Amino acid sequence: MERPFNFSAGPAAMPQEVLMQAADEMLDWPDATGRRCGMGVMEMSHRGKEFISIYEQTEADLRELLALPSNFKILFMQGGGLAENAIVPLNLSALKAVPGQPGITDFVITGSWSEKSSQEAKKYSTANIAASAKADGFIGIPEAGTWSLNPDASYLQICTNETIHGVEFNQLPDLKALGSGAELVIDFSSHVASRMVDWNQVGLAFGGAQKNLGPAGLTLVVVREDLLGYALPDCPSAFNYKTVADSNSMFNTPPTFAIYMAGLVFKWLKKQGGIATMEQRNIAKAQLLYQAIDKSDLYYNKVDTTCRSRMNVPFYLRDESLNDAFLSGAKERGMLQLKGHKSVGGMRASIYNAMPIEGVQALVDYMREFEQKKYHG
Ligand SMILES: *Cc1c(COP(=O)(O)O)cnc(C)c1O
Repeated sequence: MERPFNFSAGPAAMPQEVLMQAADEMLDWPDATGRRCGMGVMEMSHRGKEFISIYEQTEADLRELLALPSNFKILFMQGGGLAENAIVPLNLSALKAVPGQPGITDFVITGSWSEKSSQEAKKYSTANIAASAKADGFIGIPEAGTWSLNPDASYLQICTNETIHGVEFNQLPDLKALGSGAELVIDFSSHVASRMVDWNQVGLAFGGAQKNLGPAGLTLVVVREDLLGYALPDCPSAFNYKTVADSNSMFNTPPTFAIYMAGLVFKWLKKQGGIATMEQRNIAKAQLLYQAIDKSDLYYNKVDTTCRSRMNVPFYLRDESLNDAFLSGAKERGMLQLKGHKSVGGMRASIYNAMPIEGVQALVDYMREFEQKKYHG
């Protein structure tokens, strides 16, 4: 089946093979040997042997894909990235706190998402802004050597890919080398599984599934074991990482169908050659698109070339009166959801793992044709 290329920032396009397999298994799920069980995944007990086998395979595949060291736990939670903005300080702000005083948390603000994180953390901790790129319009990452790190911070949080502003960390900060004893927390919602992660630098990573892993409703948390057990007394039990870890993410009913779908995506990723292969493809896709933007007279991207996102490519038309024509022409040619986030305007092409290079090529061809006809013509 020929489907349009979907450039949505999230919930985002899924690999077609995965959707087809889910459709085939919707009414009657087969186990690894092909034996059908008479139930769809949505209808299974999360404690039954069928779902437990899905869960265990999904976790094992993800651990392998992420090359996750054994001292990290994988938690499948709910509430999305925005809930994690509260759940992280509820669990980790006390790591280095003086008893009876709120913990201290550090933030580097590189776009809307890290800004939201710092604001939410203020409810549960003393949130310190170590650096911010806001005054420059979020087009770069402040150099790590200039960050004003609080020596008593429990953790420093960054958003390693700013989905709206299109700013991505190509390297994680080495907090020890910067003289900080804080743990590094990363919001990797919109580039998880698109590139390898240096786990040596990370204490905790979280991300909603709906950008690059599967459907909305599932939140992935990866946390180093020794950071469990520091939750504030007010932390809801369902959001206490230790409780969730001790019950294998089954303290309450996990988002079973979303876990299953993510599991199918992980199998698909393994078949593609794993994350290192996806990373090479993602580099090629991003280069193709940024080169087309940079070479043109009509389109431009504002982000510093050292930290342009490989996943979310925001771009603008120099003649903004052409925006609507650009979007409707794209739609006619089978390219959907290219409109930029309402807070920044313009266009945004999200080119996650499920976007083939053919989709990016089709976009680049259309952009060139549109420029010639409507701008130069
Ligand atoms: C989408 C996104 C979020 C918000 O996720 P929700 O699931 O809507 O809570 C948080 N951080 C980043 C980087 C995102 O891209």
